[in-house]
Amino acid sequence: MRIQAENLTDIVTTIFEKTGSTADEAALVAGSLVKANLMGHDSHGVGLVPTYVRHIQAGLLIPGTSAECVKDDGAIMMFDGCRGFGRRAGGEAMEAAAERCRDTGVVLMTLRNAHHIGRIGAYGEIAMAHGLISMHFVNVIDHGPTVAPWGGGEARYVTNPVCIAVPGTENTEPTLLDMATSLIALGKARVAMSKGEQMDEGLMIDADGKPTTDPSVMYGDPKGALLPFGDHKGSGLALMCELLAGGLSGGGTIQPNNPQLQSIINNMFTIVVDPARLVDMTWLQSEIDATINYVKSARPADPDKPVIVAGDAERARTAERMAAGIEINDEAWAEITATGEGVGMENSVFDVA
Ligand code: NAD
Repeated sequence: MRIQAENLTDIVTTIFEKTGSTADEAALVAGSLVKANLMGHDSHGVGLVPTYVRHIQAGLLIPGTSAECVKDDGAIMMFDGCRGFGRRAGGEAMEAAAERCRDTGVVLMTLRNAHHIGRIGAYGEIAMAHGLISMHFVNVIDHGPTVAPWGGGEARYVTNPVCIAVPGTENTEPTLLDMATSLIALGKARVAMSKGEQMDEGLMIDADGKPTTDPSVMYGDPKGALLPFGDHKGSGLALMCELLAGGLSGGGTIQPNNPQLQSIINNMFTIVVDPARLVDMTWLQSEIDATINYVKSARPADPDKPVIVAGDAERARTAERMAAGIEINDEAWAEITATGEGVGMENSVFDVA
């Protein structure tokens, strides 16, 4: 089925209103999930609604929770998400860091103990809306590992995303690098499994450490593992996400002595920079224009696929999906429908095909 973004946002907003969120919080979380679908990151879209609701019902995600500032020390700000909605806590922490950055020129912000913060690009977008650059290193805890370290035959990391955001100029769109350090986000295996599809080769191993294309190995017992991107280099970056995000936020890493209550908790280590404190902005903007133009002017390896840069793919998919609607497979929609009905919504609301 296909559904327009606005209609989908309304439905998901109602689900979260019925599970304890204020109208504002419900709309924020719903809008952020739908934006992930629009950008083509279905792994971080509305397919997560049943999981979020299960976590609320189990007391592992607490609606109506603000980020708590646990340290406010000039250019260092530390927040605790207190198991509230990650998108809310992450947004509040980023807004505070961006505001502070106006005074200090650079801010090191950490967030710990937030329920799933979703697409990390959302926080880069907040920095860019303030004309700031940001870098984010994230780890994922409260459940077992899902990504093998380089050379490993079993999982030791989760998908530990990294995001770097550089604002656009009059002539150049924002550059937003936002990616898991695994070859794919775990949700992409969930989406493939729910569509009954196999994965491409080279993305994952089974529980015996052997290469496989079957996404269900990620949900078996014992589990397989996703592979890190970039061989030993991606694996090293994932480890740094553990040490920076898990260690310096105080939230903890994936190591097994930390609690695993089986929800999704993110910790984030963020650096926000005001570029105007470093260089002349007119010069920087002309360098950004020239660099992006130069990169994109490379002769494409495949003549039908011009070179693009970070952020372009998501802009193109958003334009497509805003026009054509968001496609959701039947199984995912059935789960969302069951979740909505379970919290008291009429079945007819979900009859949108
Ligand atoms: P991905 O593999 O699609 O990579 C996305 C990045 O690559 C983007 O910056 C995109 O613009 C860029 N890109 C895509 N095609 C390109 C091309 N042809 N040329 C140049 N650049 C290109 O994304 P992913 O790794 O699957 O991550 C998906 C989402 O999942 C992200 O938003 C990430 O933040 C999120 N995530 C969140 C968590 C969490 O715990 N909250 C964990 C993992 C991932």
